[in-house]
Amino acid sequence: MTIIPLSEGEFTIGFDKIFVPFHSGTDVLEDRPRGSLLVEIQPFLIELGDRLMLCDTGLGFKGTTGKQQIHENLARLGYGPEDVTHVLLSHLHKDHAGGLLFETASGFTAASFPDATHYIYRPEWDFALEKGAPSYTPSDFEGLENLVDIEWLQGEKGQIGEALSWQHSGAHCPQHIIWTIQDGSEIAFFGGDEAPQLKQMKMRYVARYDADGEKAMRLREQYGTQGREEGWTFLFYHDIGAPTAVLKS
Ligand SMILES: [Zn+2]
Repeated sequence: MTIIPLSEGEFTIGFDKIFVPFHSGTDVLEDRPRGSLLVEIQPFLIELGDRLMLCDTGLGFKGTTGKQQIHENLARLGYGPEDVTHVLLSHLHKDHAGGLLFETASGFTAASFPDATHYIYRPEWDFALEKGAPSYTPSDFEGLENLVDIEWLQGEKGQIGEALSWQHSGAHCPQHIIWTIQDGSEIAFFGGDEAPQLKQMKMRYVARYDADGEKAMRLREQYGTQGREEGWTFLFYHDIGAPTAVLKS
């Protein structure tokens, strides 16, 4: 399998939960509101046999050509939106689900990955619609079910074919899920915001941005231990500088 991070850049996020682009070199973190976090936003593309899988979809911002940034990133690799076969979602916060739909030049809402099967945890969908702003933007995904194939995931865990498995984790937000992608002895772990950055895997702390901080800390420890033992490649959605890593034992 080949894992390719599709970075949308660095952003700060403050208590208002608004993502503001951050350009290292010209922007200064101290100028941002107190308590702002600096994060990368990076969906991942996984090439595996004849499958082209996307792990989460980014913010949905437009790129330099005026197209969706995620489409620009795919185009740079020689892929069109219709080449994506699987969209795997960890949860529906706006920095993960913002790239699912986009508005066409004529004002219609279109699916960003029209031919992909979208794997979505049904309890998260229902929770996100009920909860809404500021963490969720329902218009990011409302109507998606009329435009693409959705495979609704239910229960506590599941397996999809030989390569994909998911598990309800529910710490960063109550209905978050994590993914593992397996190719022979190779295992990629996409923990979404349960394992967002390398540093969380190395230090023990309760983070204020997690719905259940204690549980998130315990899970990170558990994933770290298992990942070290089994040689997982971690995909860090929010890491600046280390999009993927194999943890040393
Ligand atoms: Zn996030």
